[in-house]
Amino acid sequence: MRLMDVEPRKPTAKGPAEWFTGEVWIDTIAQGHGSSPMFIAAVHFTPGARTAWHSHAIGQTLYVTEGEGRVQSRGEPIVTIRPGDIVSTPGREWHWHGAAPDHFMTHIAVTEGAAEWGEHISDAEYHADGT
Ligand code: MN
Repeated sequence: MRLMDVEPRKPTAKGPAEWFTGEVWIDTIAQGHGSSPMFIAAVHFTPGARTAWHSHAIGQTLYVTEGEGRVQSRGEPIVTIRPGDIVSTPGREWHWHGAAPDHFMTHIAVTEGAAEWGEHISDAEYHADGT
């Protein structure tokens, strides 16, 4: 019986247009063992790229590793996020995350449970903070 495995990297995948505006690239890091609903990925957003509105069944934690980004919960102001910031979103809270207009942004996403997806973030919504 093998106790541990060093796995080759999976190919980087392009974020699907149904879920993202702009170019987003995803490196899968881990999927939960057995019945664990955890999914861990490094998500790379090009400047101006962002998710659509969405929520996670159980919750999500984002850890920003590079660049500058934006995050917003439904009905709340847009918040700037930078390397070292940790964004914890409870289950079923609608939100989006993405890069700043003029910077790349990478975050590690620790996601639990399936996502429900809504509308894309319009340019007017994305620039609502005046940037
Ligand atoms: Mn999310």
